[in-house]
Amino acid sequence: MIVVDRHAHLIGKPQWISEAAYMPLAQIWAAKEPDRKPEMILPKLLNGIADGTGGKMFLDNMDAAGVDISFLLASDVWIRNNGQEPPIPFEKQLEELAEVQQAHKDRLYVWVYVDPRRPKALELFSRAIDEYGFKGCGEISAEGFRLDDDLIQPMFKKCADSGIPIDIHIRSGMGLTTFGSDVSINNASHPEHVKKLAKRYPELKIFIAHSGYSSWWQAVIQTALECPNCYLDLSDWNYDLPNMAEFVAKLAAMRDSVGAERIFFSSDQISGPRFCGEKSTLPQWVNFFKTLPEQAPNYGYHFTRKEVDLILGGNAQRLFKLPSPAKK
Ligand SMILES: [Zn+2]
Repeated sequence: MIVVDRHAHLIGKPQWISEAAYMPLAQIWAAKEPDRKPEMILPKLLNGIADGTGGKMFLDNMDAAGVDISFLLASDVWIRNNGQEPPIPFEKQLEELAEVQQAHKDRLYVWVYVDPRRPKALELFSRAIDEYGFKGCGEISAEGFRLDDDLIQPMFKKCADSGIPIDIHIRSGMGLTTFGSDVSINNASHPEHVKKLAKRYPELKIFIAHSGYSSWWQAVIQTALECPNCYLDLSDWNYDLPNMAEFVAKLAAMRDSVGAERIFFSSDQISGPRFCGEKSTLPQWVNFFKTLPEQAPNYGYHFTRKEVDLILGGNAQRLFKLPSPAKK
């Protein structure tokens, strides 16, 4: 059995993040105590999310959870995060991620998304794929543009022509916001937009990141039913583990309609001391799937070991031709 986390994020250094992106969160934290200032909180937030070990802390966290391989989604979010660029430019971050991938071959695979509004976006994306050997395109976050806008079509065309899988954020909230206020089709991250894209490029392999967590889960199932080139990514659904009965029922509905072959274990695991080690929920999330065949009957459902093995990593191994994990 192999465990592949198909959706994670590694921030190498605090300077990979623009301060503007985390200022709203720092302000929320500062407001909790009268003598706290956002400027005091901000460095803690940025240091807390940065790996700072060339991937070692991240790998230790995977090991503790029994994860063999993680896909690291390098997402260019700075233009949509009010335009402030991080101290280390995204282009340079990709060079550093190429070194991380090279140093941890067969365990860490990088995917990359370059904001199409960036000058020479396609050039940078192509270099990352062709020269650095990155494996996919993502996580694409449609905010300020739509998936059918002309400016992003060259990237989709390249992916479709070259067999590069893509990953699209499909959840009502963006970034640090899990639940957005607009759950209508006007939200550019609504599953209906993915459905149109999937039909326009039937040869494009599309991972529906977060599978609509959670308001759009049925619309995501419908999208996958109509589009055999769409795959479900379960990242963030671990938030629902306290409501086990409800989550098992939804997962069974996904399995019954889309099939276990198109469901992928994913976590949205983030790097850094605030999210790794003792604070990580990854072990609990992996364990949920490992014990699902025994646990599901308690909620009136049935999952086979074979289905769980496919979801946990068998599907990713087959689709991405991944090596089997080295014997520990
Ligand atoms: Zn996302």
